[in-house]
Amino acid sequence: MTGLLIEGGTLLGLTEPADIHPGTDLYVEDGRIRATGGEATREAVRGSIERLDARGQWVLPGFVQAHLHLCQTLLRNGPDDLELLPWLERHVWPGEAAHDAATMSVSARLGLAESLSAGVTAVLDMGTLRHSDALFEAAAASGIRYVGGNMLMDDPDTTPAYLRASAREGLAETERLRNAWHGRENGRLRVAVQPRFAVSCTDGLLRAAAELARDQDLVIHTHASENRAECALVEKRTGLPNVSYLDSVGLLSPRTCVAHAVHTDESDFRLLARRGTTVAHCPSSNLKLASGVCPVPELKRAGVRVALGSDGAACNNRLDPFREMRLAALLPHARPGGGSVSAFEVLRMATWEGSAAIGLDGPAGLVSGARADLVVLDPEEGWSLPDDWSSEPYGAIVYSMGRENVSATVVDGVVRYRREDPGVAGLKPSSEEIRKAVRSLRARM
Ligand SMILES: [Zn+2]
Repeated sequence: MTGLLIEGGTLLGLTEPADIHPGTDLYVEDGRIRATGGEATREAVRGSIERLDARGQWVLPGFVQAHLHLCQTLLRNGPDDLELLPWLERHVWPGEAAHDAATMSVSARLGLAESLSAGVTAVLDMGTLRHSDALFEAAAASGIRYVGGNMLMDDPDTTPAYLRASAREGLAETERLRNAWHGRENGRLRVAVQPRFAVSCTDGLLRAAAELARDQDLVIHTHASENRAECALVEKRTGLPNVSYLDSVGLLSPRTCVAHAVHTDESDFRLLARRGTTVAHCPSSNLKLASGVCPVPELKRAGVRVALGSDGAACNNRLDPFREMRLAALLPHARPGGGSVSAFEVLRMATWEGSAAIGLDGPAGLVSGARADLVVLDPEEGWSLPDDWSSEPYGAIVYSMGRENVSATVVDGVVRYRREDPGVAGLKPSSEEIRKAVRSLRARM
């Protein structure tokens, strides 16, 4: 069995601010951390091992993208300055519907390469109506931890025919994907049940989706309360505020991750907390689509788990956890009396809270038995020095660093990105492949 020895880095376990271990070796085998410190070095002597020199660098849990649309990576740099509903109708839905398996593969590989090179080790991906196998194939090839599948939309009053499937067809496709992919690649690939949002789904679909997820213990991934017009549509149709409506059809559970939750109030906070549902905070997307600012301090105070996501490249336009962390820390200060979220808390949102959102088990912290999904950050790269003014590196990571500081990304104990390899082991499509795929998409839009 080949092990991996990460040598001499400062381990940041992120269980508490003082969980900092300078100059500590870390030994990984079979996807798990087996030993740290001197014991790691002794373990490593036993077998054939790979070594990663992390001296002078920081080793921390990998970033989790708790809300992503890999099918939209090729839709990057489309129209700016549109709000959610017209943006979906004019650019995103026609673009998603235009995919064939080949363009979907390019879109996914581009987004996954970008994610791995930014220190992301796991993603929760919304997918679209068709070609979900291409997403799983790309995820399998990349080595990343991937939770996703097909997206569900069935309401003929609110969704175009080209991106609609009946509840029966949509959920049958989710079950087919579950049989084909769930648990493959040493458990790194998993299927989620993904109604797009309440606006685009009938009551019957949402109830059946909740039932399927409950019966088969699958993650539920949806959007809610991103935009005022969306909330008004749901309330008009159902007579209930959006979050209460999702609860009434059984969709809120500890397995549920809801993207956005921007337009929410105290009663929503209490309901989300009571159900154990995670909110995926996507600050760049919320600002770009003029949606508003998610009340993260209030959600956290009420006991709601909050993770971080980039959303799709079509409304961000980067898939970069550093941008989201910086905004998540800064934005509470833009609201009068909005409270604050410390850099340490933001890092937990980007790592452990995301892991919990997608149901990853095992101990937290960089300890024996924990999952070996890791990022190594080099403060000597980029423009984040000096870092001498604080005994803790959290502020430097959240406010000063960027993906240029990522020197390696390790998923399931295997190095999947090294900064010496910007092509991410052939995963990243060439510029010509990207442009050709966009020409092919546009021809079908
Ligand atoms: Zn989204």
